[in-house]
Amino acid sequence: MKLATFSHDGATRIGLVDADEVVDLAAAAPDLPREMVAFLEAGPEALSRAHAALADGPRLPRADVRLEAPIARPPKFLAVGLNYADHVAESGMEAPKHPTVFNKQSTCVVGPDAPVHVPRASHALDYEGELGFVIGRRCRHVSREDAPDVIAGYLVVNDVSVRDWQLRTPTWTMGKSFDTHGPIGPWIVTPDELPDPHQLRLRTWVNDELRQESNTKELIFDCFGLVEHFSTAFTLEPGDVVATGTPAGVGIGMKPPRLLQAGDVVRIEIEGIGELSNPVIDEPR
Ligand code: ZN
Repeated sequence: MKLATFSHDGATRIGLVDADEVVDLAAAAPDLPREMVAFLEAGPEALSRAHAALADGPRLPRADVRLEAPIARPPKFLAVGLNYADHVAESGMEAPKHPTVFNKQSTCVVGPDAPVHVPRASHALDYEGELGFVIGRRCRHVSREDAPDVIAGYLVVNDVSVRDWQLRTPTWTMGKSFDTHGPIGPWIVTPDELPDPHQLRLRTWVNDELRQESNTKELIFDCFGLVEHFSTAFTLEPGDVVATGTPAGVGIGMKPPRLLQAGDVVRIEIEGIGELSNPVIDEPR
């Protein structure tokens, strides 16, 4: 299933994307939660009822709805840096022995087609196309073998970064957390549709120029290992989003660097998931 959050006629709710249509879960199963985190918290029964609605639930044309961030405010928005060997090389850093984990503030989340701001404070704006995954159940001490059971699905993340703010201190939180710098979407693809999340082509374009082209098989620490690693230390909760890292081809790695500016459009496509596109504008006054 493709679990989406969408707006239609002034109301925001969840649904299932099926080709050119969206199954309206609020209409198909009015007692199911209408917000994604609450829906994930409702567990397998809610998922199976949603699945049943694919067969006979009321549908809206895709063109009549606006897709929102699948999760408007993840409980945690975790990210991993330096997780593709070619990106480690272009960054001039050493390959890490342990995952380089940082947080993006969850207030930075935006959805498909939402503008990303060139901040007033800096013009060193860059993109990072990444595979993301979403936690589906509250868990701790999950082995890598059991990790697939706690993943609700996969999505595309643009880990937008303000390079000067990111790199001027040892921790990257500030430069990774500006408002609008966490586009996620276009929906959450459940694992039954993605038999192997570690065999997916990932490509990023700026305008129509291909900047990143890799495959999730190149991840140094994969999704399941990351679940084991995180949950060794802390509880993971439904709706937590993890951005797994970006391959080579970011703007700062080019010679000379080619950073984003107002008017650009960043489009990230991951095989089997879909496409996430966001325009860049100057931060409004
Ligand atoms: Zn990143």
